[in-house]
Amino acid sequence: SGSWEPLYRVVLLGDPGVGKTSLVNLFAGVQERDLLEQHGEAAYKRTLSVDGEETTLLVMDAWEPEQRGEESRRRSQCLQVGNAYIIVYSITDRGSFESASELRIQLRHARQAEDIPIILVGNKTDLVRCREVSVEEGRACAVVFDCKFIETSAALQHNVAELFEGVVRQIRLRRGGK
Ligand code: GDP
Repeated sequence: SGSWEPLYRVVLLGDPGVGKTSLVNLFAGVQERDLLEQHGEAAYKRTLSVDGEETTLLVMDAWEPEQRGEESRRRSQCLQVGNAYIIVYSITDRGSFESASELRIQLRHARQAEDIPIILVGNKTDLVRCREVSVEEGRACAVVFDCKFIETSAALQHNVAELFEGVVRQIRLRRGGK
């Protein structure tokens, strides 16, 4: 891969405990992990080959929960720097699903008029008996918020590669190329 290939910043958003760090760890891989200190935060860079073409993603796991509606520099930075967003909730936690909707709205306000790829992710599908949010609800939410949708299990490594490949495809679609 050449040194001129573009790098796209992908920012993970979502409530604490939904599985953001677990997903990004799977993305980074044990062998290939390349921890960068960027804005003092964890970011993982990896080049993926998708549909015969290589794309480098820098995935940032720097989101912090809102405290009493207080403005935070890190939060607004997260909302500004992404070329794409992964909004994660846990299918076992309805509150995190509601937060995902709020995050989508915050993102829309922060990046008005920009057509940024967003993937809504329902994680923890392995916890079948604890499910509080149905697949249909997740899908319907994605339609309303005009984003892609996928359910994953970081624990079972199910659909995680598909998630990041989907991010790459969404970025390419907007690039105006193939
Ligand atoms: P974060 O706070 O959003 O970064 O969430 P973490 O990645 O730290 O995960 C929070 C907890 O949920 C940890 O104990 C993880 O092991 C667990 N977890 C994450 N993903 C899954 C999953 O897909 N299934 C199950 N059963 N547990 C998960």
